[in-house]
Amino acid sequence: MRKKIAILGSTGSIGTQALQVIEEHADLYEAYVLTANSQADLLIRQALRFQPAAVVIADEARYQYVRDALADQPIQVYAGQDALCQVVENSEVDIVLTALVGFAGLRPTVAAIRAHKQIALANKETLVVAGELVTRLAMENHAPILPVDSEHSAIFQSLMGEESEIEKIILTASGGPFRKFSKEELQTVTPAMALRHPNWDMGAKITIDSASMMNKGFEVIEAKWLFGVEASDIQVVVHPQSIIHSAVQFRDGAVKAQLGVPDMRVPIQLAFSYPYRLASQFDRLDWYHMASLTFEEPDLERFRCLALAFEALRRGGSMPCVVNAANEVVNLAFRQEQCQFLQMAEVIETTMLRATFVQQPSLDDLFQCDAEARRIAAEFIK
Ligand code: NDP
Ligand code: MG
Repeated sequence: MRKKIAILGSTGSIGTQALQVIEEHADLYEAYVLTANSQADLLIRQALRFQPAAVVIADEARYQYVRDALADQPIQVYAGQDALCQVVENSEVDIVLTALVGFAGLRPTVAAIRAHKQIALANKETLVVAGELVTRLAMENHAPILPVDSEHSAIFQSLMGEESEIEKIILTASGGPFRKFSKEELQTVTPAMALRHPNWDMGAKITIDSASMMNKGFEVIEAKWLFGVEASDIQVVVHPQSIIHSAVQFRDGAVKAQLGVPDMRVPIQLAFSYPYRLASQFDRLDWYHMASLTFEEPDLERFRCLALAFEALRRGGSMPCVVNAANEVVNLAFRQEQCQFLQMAEVIETTMLRATFVQQPSLDDLFQCDAEARRIAAEFIK
C-alpha cells in the first residue's frame, strides 16, 4: 500500500522538492492532496502530473480558473483556508507535509493532528506560535511530528537509538549572506542582496529570515518544543559551510552530529520514510575536496532578531506569537522596500513592548495576539 501524502504548499520550495521525492519513490508514496496559495498555473500542472484526489487553492478568487482547468479530471477542487483543514482530515491521508509558510500553517496543522495524522513539519512558525499547545495536542492524539527543517532533522537523526538525556543541542547556522557585514553595512542592505542565500535555495520569506537570523531564533524555539530542552541548553553556532546540519551533546560529553551536502530532499524523504532510510541519488559529500569546516559565535548585537527570539522564548506565553506576527509584517515590508533591514528588529521589539501578553494562551487567544501584533507592527512601520 502506498502512503498517501497531503502536501500543504506544494508549489513552494519545500513542496516542489517533496514532489521530487514522491516521484523518485512512486512505489511507496502518492501525492494525495496538493495545495497552493495563489500560483494557480503551477498547481494545475502539478495536479495533471501527479493526479491527486484533491487540490486546494487558498486564494478563492482563483477557484473557478483551477476548476475549469481540471474539469475533465477525476480531481476534487476546493478553495479557501477552511478547505485546507478539511482536506487533511480525509481518512485516506497518511502523512501531512506542512510546507506552507507563516501563521497560516497553524490551523491546518492543528486539524491534521486532531485527525491523528503523521506530521512532516516544515512550517516552523506553527511551533514558534503555539509550540506548547501543538506538542501537547500531538501527544494526546498520537500524531507523531517528524521534523523537516534540516537542523531539527539532524538533531532527530542524532537522537535515533539514544535513550539518554540531552545535555545540549548545538544548532548550526550558516550566518546568512551578511555574516561579515558591519552595522553600517547592514544599514544599506537591499531585498535583492538579502534574497541571495549562500547555501540554500528557499522561499522568499525564510530567505529574509535567514539573512536577519530570525530564522535561527525561530529554530531555537522549534527545537525547544520538538526535543523538550530549555533555551539555555541550545547553543547556536555559526558554521558557514552548512555541512554539519546540527548536533547533540550527551551527558558523557559525546557529541553526535549529522552531516551532508545541503539538500532539503534528505530530511523531507526521512520524514516520510522514518524509521527507515531510502536510497537516493542526491549528491554525496566529497571528503577530499571539502572546504574546511569553521565555527563562530553569533553576534547578537548585529543580529538583534536572534536575541529577540531568545527573549520571547524566555518570556513564554504569547510572546513568541507576537514576535512571529511582527516578523511576518516586517519581513514583507522589507521585501517591498517599506522598511530597512535593521528596522525590522526595532519594529519587532516595539511590538513586543506594546502587545497584550497572555501567559497561557488558548488557540483563540493566539489568533487575537497575532492580529493585534500585526496591527501594532504595521502602524509602527507607517
Ligand atoms: P515558499 O514560499 O517557497 O512556499 C510556500 C508555499 O505555501 C507555497 O505553496 C504557497 O503557495 C503556500 N502558501 C503561502 N501562503 C499561504 C497561505 N496564506 N495559505 C495557504 N498556502 C500558502 O516557502 P518554503 O517552501 O521556503 O517554506 C515553507 C515552510 O517550510 C516555511 O515555514 C519555512 O520556514 C519552512 N522551511 C523551509 C525550508 C526551505 O529550504 N525552503 C527549510 C526549512 C524550513 P503559492 O506558491 O501559491 O504562493
Ligand atoms: Mg533550518
